[in-house]
Amino acid sequence: QFEKSELLKALPKQFFASLVEKVGAITAEGHDVINLGQGNPDQPTPDHIVRRLQEAAQNPINHKYSPFKGYSYLKEAAAKYYKREYGVDIDPDKEVAILFGGKAGLVELPQCLLNPGDTVLVPDPGYPDYWSGVAMAGAQMEYMPLLEKNDFLPDYPSISKDTLEKAKLMFLNYPNNPTGAIANSKFFKETINLAQKHSICVVHDFAYGAIGFDGSKPLSFMQCEGAKDVGIEIYTLSKTYNMAGWRVGFAVGNSSVIEAIELIQDHMYVSLFPAVQEAAAAALLESQECVDQLVDTYESRRKVLIEGLNEIGWEVSAPKGSFFAWLKVPEGFTSEAFADYLLEHAHVAVAPGIGFGTYGEGYVRTGLLTTEDRLREAVDRIRELKLFK
Ligand code: PLP
Repeated sequence: QFEKSELLKALPKQFFASLVEKVGAITAEGHDVINLGQGNPDQPTPDHIVRRLQEAAQNPINHKYSPFKGYSYLKEAAAKYYKREYGVDIDPDKEVAILFGGKAGLVELPQCLLNPGDTVLVPDPGYPDYWSGVAMAGAQMEYMPLLEKNDFLPDYPSISKDTLEKAKLMFLNYPNNPTGAIANSKFFKETINLAQKHSICVVHDFAYGAIGFDGSKPLSFMQCEGAKDVGIEIYTLSKTYNMAGWRVGFAVGNSSVIEAIELIQDHMYVSLFPAVQEAAAAALLESQECVDQLVDTYESRRKVLIEGLNEIGWEVSAPKGSFFAWLKVPEGFTSEAFADYLLEHAHVAVAPGIGFGTYGEGYVRTGLLTTEDRLREAVDRIRELKLFK
């Protein structure tokens, strides 16, 4: 019976809620849906991390409030992780903020740095939670198209001078959701130059930082000289260690931005469950064999899906990183109509590209988050539709 706030009403509609509903309806009719539409890792958190949580949960110190900014051992583990994985020096005191998963940091950031009416550069297609944070800050978005001909990197020269003058914040995300593209150091250097010239704060979302294919390790924005002067990188344990439900991540980089994130969090919550902090530190510091295995698993699944689809005549490209594939829809369909068609006729769910922005139209996103057998079965079901060849 209570009216919703103007802020809540102004938040963008959660496009993918309707996909969940449609999958639910088809499943309720008794059909076996192969759901490639979602981004929830299908494998469990590695045993050694779960055991650390169990042990830590037994310790009464972990039943109390932790320090508001989180335990310093987790910040130190994050700094060691960056040194070991990327050769980057991070000051655990000033250059790390602990987050309730990457999403919290991404949504909080615009509220830390922007005033109503400020302009933010957002990739299109892109992860929809960027829009939520911008809307909560009352700021406005200017979209940077990610086009296949540019390897799904924004084309900075095409952004108007006026927009660059106004922009205060820019979101980037490589390996990219939804396109599976990766960034190179030339692009990151261009980004740093642009940010310095126009005083733009760069937020690099590195959610899929651990997942690169064909032997290539995705580049951290922090590896590029000057990155710390212009921005931060957001890292999450959700994808690297199959810990999506644990809600733990961190931001590293520019100390004034890190300070701003910690300030806003101080008003919103005390830090994470301390036992989760302990297990997260163990995940970052102990053997990374589980991560290598995870990447191998996604790489094998990628082969099954991409080769399978190409064999049935659907010409698709392989993602270079992340656990998504970005597939062009056949002529005559919108992305939503095509996703509906696959769901209704093949009981295969994919995410329509339009849900990621205007430039997502013409594509659908599939995940690699099910077994090779299920992926083969999905390809077989699509073959039966005889849409290709
Ligand atoms: N960034 C991107 C691009 C994502 O795809 C996701 C999750 O799907 C996140 C951030 C947030 O992850 P989490 O909040 O689980 O850390």
